[in-house]
Amino acid sequence: MILSAHIVVGSLIGEHIDSPFIVIPISIISHLVMDAIPHWDYTIYQLSTYQEWVKIGADIGTGLLFAFLIIYLLRKHKNRQIDQKNIFKKNVNVLLGIFFAVALDGITLLYMKWNFIPAFITPITKFHQWVHFK
Ligand SMILES: [Zn+2]
Repeated sequence: MILSAHIVVGSLIGEHIDSPFIVIPISIISHLVMDAIPHWDYTIYQLSTYQEWVKIGADIGTGLLFAFLIIYLLRKHKNRQIDQKNIFKKNVNVLLGIFFAVALDGITLLYMKWNFIPAFITPITKFHQWVHFK
C-alpha cells in the first residue's frame, strides 16, 4: 500500500484515540490490514536512483498534506473548544499514529537500502511480507 494511505489512516487513528498506548498497536495493525487488501503499488528496488527518492518523497508529502487537511477540517467541523494541553496531546497522538502506521515500511526500506536490520525485527519483517498482498 502506498505510504500516503498509511499516513492518512495513522493520523485518523491518532486523532480519534486518546491513549498513545492504544494508538501505537492499532496503527501497526492498520498497516498490516491495509497491506493485506489487494491494491496497486509502485515498486521500489534499491533506492539507488533519484527517481525512487522522488517517488517516496512525493508519496510521503501527499500523505502528510492530506492528513493535515483532513484533521484540520475534522477539528473545524467539530468546532469544539480544545484547550492547549489537549491539542498538544492530540497532535502527539496524530504524529505517533502516522509514525507507527508507516514504521513497517520504514524498516523494510532500511533493510533494502543498507541491508541493516536488527535481529529482533526479522520475524516482524517476515510477517509483514507474508501478510502483504502479492
Ligand atoms: Zn507495508
